[in-house]
Amino acid sequence: MLIDSHAHLEMREFDHDRDEVVRRAKEAGIDTIVTVGTNLRECRKAVALAAQYDGVYAALGIHPHDVKSIDEKTYGAVRELVRRPKVVAYGEIGLDFFRNRSPRDVQIRFFGEQLEMADEFGLPIIIHDREAHAEVLKMLTAWKGKRGGIIHCFSGDAAMAKKCLDLGFYISIAGPVTYPKSDRLQEVVRQVPLNRLLVETDAPYLTPQLHRGKRNEPAYVVHTAKRVAEVKGLTLAEVGAATSKNARAVFGIP
Ligand SMILES: [Zn+2]
Ligand SMILES: [Zn+2]
Repeated sequence: MLIDSHAHLEMREFDHDRDEVVRRAKEAGIDTIVTVGTNLRECRKAVALAAQYDGVYAALGIHPHDVKSIDEKTYGAVRELVRRPKVVAYGEIGLDFFRNRSPRDVQIRFFGEQLEMADEFGLPIIIHDREAHAEVLKMLTAWKGKRGGIIHCFSGDAAMAKKCLDLGFYISIAGPVTYPKSDRLQEVVRQVPLNRLLVETDAPYLTPQLHRGKRNEPAYVVHTAKRVAEVKGLTLAEVGAATSKNARAVFGIP
């Protein structure tokens, strides 16, 4: 059994075959999927999907790409949505200095605001960090002492992973660990203790090597888990059991 700790089932890429995607995941042994809304409209959709499907849970927050859409009504709507059933995390929030779809100073301001707000909710947070390692670490360190969470699709080095672990975060590994030239990420997998690792797809993005070029979907998390098992010298069953236990613990899923 495996848990896909981060997917975007609400995205329109799944509108035509979502039932099939969830069914294929179950057949592949993925009994739990956390679907992550990235703006208000998508968050509402994620919450609705969690209500619709057994084993699907929702996370919600305003993604760094979308923070420029935040207005005076956004946080009120977010506060209402996080109280819905099966909402298990706040995020993904963070910084993306690779695409810069919102200006950097705007991203930093709204990441700070959302960190503060997340503290009200008593939920773990999911962090998106792309090419913004130093700034993300700085802001999470300043936030220390509050509730931890997950660094999703971890892309830093082993030294950064150590700092994130010290701050109380889990490290979530996505499809890039299956790519050639993933030495740095494999080193992270080697160094992070098994009781702090999660696996995810980030579907529809970051398709594992075997299916690269196609849309990603939760069933493919098995390829990422297999690679993690190889790198750590464990069996797939051991990695499945440990990462599922970790995901249930951090999200509070029974
Ligand atoms: Zn992300
Ligand atoms: Zn994501």
